[in-house]
Amino acid sequence: MEAPITYKLNMGQSASIAYYPVINLFTNKVLAKAEESIAPIANGCRRYIIEYELESPRSVEEYTYELLNLGVLWRTYGGMALSVRTAPFRLMAFLAGVRKKNEFIKALVDPIRGFLMSLFLARENAERLTEPPENLQEFERFVQWLEATGDFREDAFRFIRWLAYFNTLNPTQFNETMKKVLNFSAWFEKESLNSLGSYTQNVEGFLKTRMRYYRWREDRFVCLRTRVEYHLNMTGAEIMNRAFQPEFLSAHKKTVLVPGCMRLRSARKCEGIKTPNGILCTGCEPRCSVNRLRIMGHTNNFYVCILPHSTDLSRWAAKPDAPSHAVVGVACLSVLVQGGWELRRWNIPAQCVLLNECGCRKHWDNIGFPTELDVRELKKILQTDSPDLRILTERQKVILKN
Ligand code: SF4
Repeated sequence: MEAPITYKLNMGQSASIAYYPVINLFTNKVLAKAEESIAPIANGCRRYIIEYELESPRSVEEYTYELLNLGVLWRTYGGMALSVRTAPFRLMAFLAGVRKKNEFIKALVDPIRGFLMSLFLARENAERLTEPPENLQEFERFVQWLEATGDFREDAFRFIRWLAYFNTLNPTQFNETMKKVLNFSAWFEKESLNSLGSYTQNVEGFLKTRMRYYRWREDRFVCLRTRVEYHLNMTGAEIMNRAFQPEFLSAHKKTVLVPGCMRLRSARKCEGIKTPNGILCTGCEPRCSVNRLRIMGHTNNFYVCILPHSTDLSRWAAKPDAPSHAVVGVACLSVLVQGGWELRRWNIPAQCVLLNECGCRKHWDNIGFPTELDVRELKKILQTDSPDLRILTERQKVILKN
């Protein structure tokens, strides 16, 4: 069996047995631990958001996850962000937004973004941080840096609300709050390595050997994610699925949005029909996984659409007087949570399913191979399949015991 590029959920067994029961229990553990540490902070921010009507309030678990995300990203990228003295932040954030809105200029904009990112935003030897920001200005610079990368745009949108909330705290309160967040993130990093590390064993080797390859590329932050970010996104996908499920299930129409890398044929040979919303499979290759999903959709009442990477998801937002439309986003671990947040921002009821591993030619592999998802997990999410698959093996129980 060939080693995965970075992560793999179905080592030796299907992901519905090898991975999904584990992430379910691990997420319970994270949320239980958060109760005694950062959940009260998340609650405080939620109350602030309600009072000032900054957005429709979301669940405490979602805000708790945002805090965990904040802590992990600060520890990972805070040093890099603060070491940037000057950069065209606005121009870079603008370019990231433009390429999302217009697919046809991606090819033109991406090399420019890659060059600017490497020149201004990336620092290969930047230190990881264990201390909180000294003040709100440092935190603000960090958020600006995240937005400029384009790949942390959704994170930055959320942190702008946190910035507003932190502004209501005095410097000592802000410092104590951030210390709690960083302590929790450090706990998460250690625990997630124990519980989820078996799925991400190749991440560090990949980072070591491929760092130079991505140096001037626009996908450098997407592809060079650290191991803890993989675990963070696994947990985030689970929390989001729980939070969005009721709305998703009550929608009239459901579409599974799959990435182009799931196709058996190359983009050039695929005979799918291009539409403004994505590519519709025509079944030109019976063995293609997308075609199989399309056929499954006929009997299970869902549609399938192929989305190119970084598509603007606002086109899936509800139209006035149209029946509610929910989507299942399918993607690899590097981008799944950001996609989920974007769908949430557009009020699109969504669920997500992970690709079992990454493998597209554009970002990950010189040759590329068709990627896959766990069909049982998809059916469970769509509630077309009822058996309880959350049965743990003895080894999984041992890993999660503490
Ligand atoms: S079966 Fe569908 S998705 Fe697969 S290559 Fe053909 S048209 Fe494209």
